[in-house]
Amino acid sequence: MILFKKNVDLINYLQQARDKGLTIGFVPTMGALHEGHLSLLEASRKENLLTVTSIFVNPTQFNDPRDYEKYPSTIEKDIELLEGTGNDVLFFPPVTEIYPNGIAEQRHYDIGYLETILEGKFRPGHFQGVCNVMERLLDIVRPDNLYMGRKDYQQCMVIKRLLQIMQSDIILHRCSTLREPDGLAMSSRNLRLNPTERKQATVISQALQFMRTHVVPGETNVLKKQAAAMLEQHDFRIDYVEIANADTLALVDAWDGKQPIIGLIAAFQHEIRLIDNINLSDKD
Ligand code: AMP
Repeated sequence: MILFKKNVDLINYLQQARDKGLTIGFVPTMGALHEGHLSLLEASRKENLLTVTSIFVNPTQFNDPRDYEKYPSTIEKDIELLEGTGNDVLFFPPVTEIYPNGIAEQRHYDIGYLETILEGKFRPGHFQGVCNVMERLLDIVRPDNLYMGRKDYQQCMVIKRLLQIMQSDIILHRCSTLREPDGLAMSSRNLRLNPTERKQATVISQALQFMRTHVVPGETNVLKKQAAAMLEQHDFRIDYVEIANADTLALVDAWDGKQPIIGLIAAFQHEIRLIDNINLSDKD
């Protein structure tokens, strides 16, 4: 594996690879890698001759500065994991490479409705930060294929919109969520949970499973309240428990029994914010 810290070096290296006809797959991450990240990498390795993974904790997407300061960093272990999985290139730039003019200089993206609901509503500015870093990273890496996780469902939709705004022909692959044996969605933030919080955290996936088992056509309010009560009984502070159209993320107050829907939860165990989602309508 080759490690690059400077944009220019990576750009030159990838140009040579492109000249040789190699297809490039890209897995952007913020590090503290787990099997969920590695599954994206494996998907990329199957479909591309060269896989680039980036590790960059993007300051502009943290609406809470404390969350940024405390974001886990395990770079040495990450490098070992990437080597073991056969990653070709690691891009690990400092903030000044990605934001040479400082982090205040940000472009604004018209992502419409997506910015006003769910993560957009509860983390003001978050998706603008995500778009800013992703446009910069995509301009540097210029991949053929981009691999992102459905765990961040709304983020995938934002990136789809960003690719339209950029008039890009990069193909976005949305990969399934990897879970711990007890159902908890793998996440770098899980490292920050103490043993009690870690145990309670499984209730998020239990509440989503409950919604999946009990959803019926008609109004969704009672079901959302029942799921919220499960979380509250286990010390969660809830940002949202919602049901939304799986294609548009329009919130669904009454389900017609036909449209594809997903359940989404964001909730805190003390100061650690966790998110997860589940497909509710496709029960195969
Ligand atoms: P992050 O490092 O949290 O920014 O995540 C980097 C990429 O990994 C994003 O596209 C995430 O959606 C994806 N990801 C995070 N957790 C998981 C998981 N448990 N399963 C699959 N993909 C994931």
